[in-house]
Amino acid sequence: MKKEFICISCPMGCPLTVWEENGEVLVSGNTCPRGKAYGIQEFTCPQRVVTSSVPVRGGEQSMCSVKTDKPVAKTEIAKVLAAIYGASVKAPVKVGDIVIPNVDGNGANVVATRRVLDRKK
Ligand code: SF4
Repeated sequence: MKKEFICISCPMGCPLTVWEENGEVLVSGNTCPRGKAYGIQEFTCPQRVVTSSVPVRGGEQSMCSVKTDKPVAKTEIAKVLAAIYGASVKAPVKVGDIVIPNVDGNGANVVATRRVLDRKK
């Protein structure tokens, strides 16, 4: 069965058609090799970066935005979000601080994307 995707690897947004033939995944519509790789990935194991936020203990702000530092399989997103919803961090927080290591079991970490200073006493 053929599937249609828009390549999001660059702003060109090439329309891709991806299908399997004789055990091989084929891609058409791509303008460059990155589009082929994206189409194969999206067809065989779609992945997404997960973004959310976690509560901050003792910070100037009560919440800190977070994201996975690499895409995780779509099948793992519910598990990743459950882990994020159960997490919190203690101020101070720097951008890039690891909030949850190896959240998907495949090496993706949840990292802070916002700096949160200590609450002034
Ligand atoms: S196929 Fe290549 S040129 Fe087209 S959107 Fe993807 S990365 Fe950009």
